Amino acid sequence: MKAPKDQHFLVDAQAVALIADTVPVSGRKVLEIGPGGGVLTAALLGRGAVVRAVELDGTLLPNLQRRFSDQIASGQLEIIRGDASKVPLPEFELVVANLPYSISSKITFRLLEIGFESAVLMYQLEFGKRMIAPPGSGEYGRLSVMAQTYADVEMVLELPPEAFSPPPEVWSIVVKITPHEPPVPIRDRSVHAVLVRELFSHRRKTIRNGLRSMRSIYGESVMTNLVENLPAEMLEMRPEMLSVPDFINLANRLSVLIP
Ligand code: SAM
Repeated sequence: MKAPKDQHFLVDAQAVALIADTVPVSGRKVLEIGPGGGVLTAALLGRGAVVRAVELDGTLLPNLQRRFSDQIASGQLEIIRGDASKVPLPEFELVVANLPYSISSKITFRLLEIGFESAVLMYQLEFGKRMIAPPGSGEYGRLSVMAQTYADVEMVLELPPEAFSPPPEVWSIVVKITPHEPPVPIRDRSVHAVLVRELFSHRRKTIRNGLRSMRSIYGESVMTNLVENLPAEMLEMRPEMLSVPDFINLANRLSVLIP
């Protein structure tokens, strides 16, 4: 029988231990997304974490409730049924999760918006590499800039398909995310998000042409004014050459011009 979407259970015990040991969890409120069979839940509980686990698949709940009945009774574990990208989330300080890959982006930015101390999250390798990619690399794009604007993102480990049962078709990566304030204050976060999205939607265009194509959003005079006042050197660059602070400075220049 084909495994339900997004259900690849981690069976590499060493990887489970490494993930659970990446940040100290003892006595901390930890949000787990997608506990599945409870392999990571058990490791977190064993290290003294107070776990709030959100699981979408109701068929997995009876097993989890049976396996962790003592911890549920003592209040060390609460299991919430629902879609972690939508349900109201309980209070948490840390997040540790072998995420369902279909909600990687949505849940990551939801968590960053809510705020937390640090998160240890598993992603599809290609997605995680985009999160940690530096400027100038082929993988550097919208996801890299948006993640690195609001957090430090470090690689913890890469995992082959055999670390899971059933094995997925792709490799996975575990990253540690530590939120921080943007390196330069952002005047208007939505203008910054639109600018990053638009410039990377035309990756091969120069900044000059990328900004010109934003006339339909902010109007001809705003964009012309911005382009005319930027250094020629920046206008000839492609978006993957701009650093995280460069994008913020550009967005700040744009947002002062918007009436
Ligand atoms: N943590 C377990 C492990 O490491 O073996 C399971 C990981 S499995 C990759 C992802 C889990 O997330 C599955 O149990 C799946 O049912 C659950 N899931 C999928 N979509 C979800 C969602 N939107 N919200 C919460 N859980 C979800």
